Order: sequence, then C-alpha cells, then structure tokens
Amino acid sequence: SDDLLRAVDRIISHADRRHRLEVRANADTPQDAHRARRLGATGIGLCRTEHMFLGDRRTLVERLILASGEAARAEALAALLPLQRADFTRIFEEMDGLPVTIRLLDPPLHEFLPDHVELTARVAVAKALGQTDAPEDLLRAVDRLHEQNPMLGTRGVRLGLIIPELYDLQVRAIAEAAAVRIRAGGTPHVEIMVPLVGDARELEMVAARARRTVADVARESGVDIRYRIGTMIELPRAALTAGRIAESAAFFSFGTNDLTQTVWGFSRDDVEGSFFPVYLIEGVFEVSPFETIDREGVGRLIAIAVREGRAARPDLALGVCGEHGGDPASIRFFHEVGLDYVSCSPFRVPVARLEAGRAVVGEADTTTDNR
Ligand code: PEP
Ligand code: MG
Repeated sequence: SDDLLRAVDRIISHADRRHRLEVRANADTPQDAHRARRLGATGIGLCRTEHMFLGDRRTLVERLILASGEAARAEALAALLPLQRADFTRIFEEMDGLPVTIRLLDPPLHEFLPDHVELTARVAVAKALGQTDAPEDLLRAVDRLHEQNPMLGTRGVRLGLIIPELYDLQVRAIAEAAAVRIRAGGTPHVEIMVPLVGDARELEMVAARARRTVADVARESGVDIRYRIGTMIELPRAALTAGRIAESAAFFSFGTNDLTQTVWGFSRDDVEGSFFPVYLIEGVFEVSPFETIDREGVGRLIAIAVREGRAARPDLALGVCGEHGGDPASIRFFHEVGLDYVSCSPFRVPVARLEAGRAVVGEADTTTDNR
C-alpha cells in the first residue's frame, strides 16, 4: 500500500505543478495539522478556535462572558492565556514555515452559556442548601443574553466588540506563541482572521486593537513578529462592501457555509429535513447549495468581492474555507473566479489537489478548442 500511496503522490504532484490554486487544510488541533501536512496541504486556511473554549475551559469562558466585576473577568483571562498560548504553539510547530490562519472566536453564544433551565436548577439547589452565593446574577446575565436566533446573533466579531478582552486574549496568545517559536528557531507564518464581519468599521476596530497587542508582545519579548490580519467574507453585506473592507484586510477567506445560509436564508443546521428533498426533486437545485457552490447567487457575490477587493488592494490574498473548499465542482468555480487557495478538511486535501490541477488542465484544453 506504500507503493500505491507513492503512485498517488506522484500523480498529485504532477497536478500540483500545474495548478494555480493552493490547497490548505482546515485544522484546529496539532494532530489535524500534522495529518494535513502529510497529505500535502500548504498551510492551514482555517483554524477554528471554538473547541478551545469548551470542555474544562467552559466555566472560565462562562465567567469571562458573564462576570459582573473586573476582578472576576481578569482572573478568567489570566487562566485562559497560557492554555491558548500552548494551543497555538503546538500548531505553529507542526506547520512551521507554512501559513496558519487562526480565526478569532466565532461562537453561537448559546453553546458557551448554561441554559436558563440548567441555571434555574443551580440557583434553586444553592438556595435550598442555604448557600449565600447562589448564582442569581449569572441567571440574570444569561437571560439578558438570550437570543431567539443565535446564528444571527452575538457571533464572531460582534462578541469581539462587546467583550474586547476576549479577542485581546486570543491575539496575545497568538503573538506569544509566535514569539516562543521564533526564539526556538522556527518560522511561524501568522495570519489572524476576524469572523462574521459585515462592515469595514468592525474590522478596523478589531485590527487596530490587534496591532497594538502584537506590538506590546513584540516589545516585551524582544522578538520581531510578522503577521497579517484578514477577514472572513461570509455575509452578503461583506461581499458587497469588499472594497472598503479590503482597506483593513491583507486577505479574504470566503466562508461559504454562512454565505450560503445568509444568501438563501436557509438554516445550515436544518438543511436535511423539511423542504430540502422537495427542492431537489422539483429541481429548485440539483445538489444542495451547501455542498456545491451556487454559482448564480453565492458565486456572484464572491465574484463581486474578488473584483472589488482586488481593485482596492491588488496584493489581497483570496481563499475559501467553507465546506465547498473540498468539493470538486466548487473548486473549479474558485479557480475560474481567481482565488489563490481553497482550504478543506485534511482528508479531502489529496482530492482537492487533483481537482485544482484538473482545473488548470481543463483551462488549457478550452484554450486549444477555441483556436
Ligand atoms: C463558513 O461559514 O463557511 C466557515 C468556514 O465558518 P464556520 O463554518 O465555522 O461558520
Ligand atoms: Mg462561518
């Protein structure tokens, strides 16, 4: 089977030599990063950080978001910083010399907070036991933050703007991890990505703070940290105002999952049920738009964003990190529209590399036909 793998690799490297689209991977752990690299990914196009705040760390995040006092918030931040720094250090280590795009936290808030029922029970138990510190203030805060539509709510940059300390913490952890790697002789290629931006001003504010934080870390550590700041383009408004947004972004990464959800107004979490099968049968679409890029809607917005983004900033790097990044038909579209890279789950990397190569070959064939 080693022979087979080598043969596959030879074919893929042949395709690699001809393609324009690079293939990166979506990876959130050192293990995934390792796998991605072995399969030929040329970087991480999306490192989601949500999972880094769940599990044992959830209580810290809960405290951070809900804390009423400065002291409690500062304590939670101090506890989270070394944990985040270690997360990033290990990923930079695995991907040394290749770009790693770390996306700042993009939670649907409800996944990080205790729900009302759970918390009401906790309050009742605490009171029954005569405890004086029943978490009633937490309950009030949770109720205040409750949202009917969490996927359209306090997600991404919106959370980053109402709790700036959260993104400060992440950016500091990224910069410190980079400094650790540089001191150890490594070459981290750091890219910081802001999610769910809808207006240039949102990105401007986050980017300004991030630059200050990285500069602080560089001064403290005496290390020159090179990095880029960019954004997800995953809301229709972001695509339509891409020229303005590009003024504060070194790169765009199209979040086609959210872009599909918001362009169609379909919930990405409920697509399997109800009307979808009927739509497929009746030919409203031939395949799910969450699987293959919808050229007439989402695709046109991407084309607009590419054009306006590059007009405003000719060296703007352009990629895609939604599920479509690993879908062959969509990869052909991304090639045609002129993206620089696709990013997909590690196990799809070889297929994506082949498809990216085929897109170039297909283009050459068409040119011949036209003559
Ligand atoms: C997207 O929206 O396409 C994306 C990559 O981000 P997420 O799936 O984490 O929302
Ligand atoms: Mg998204």
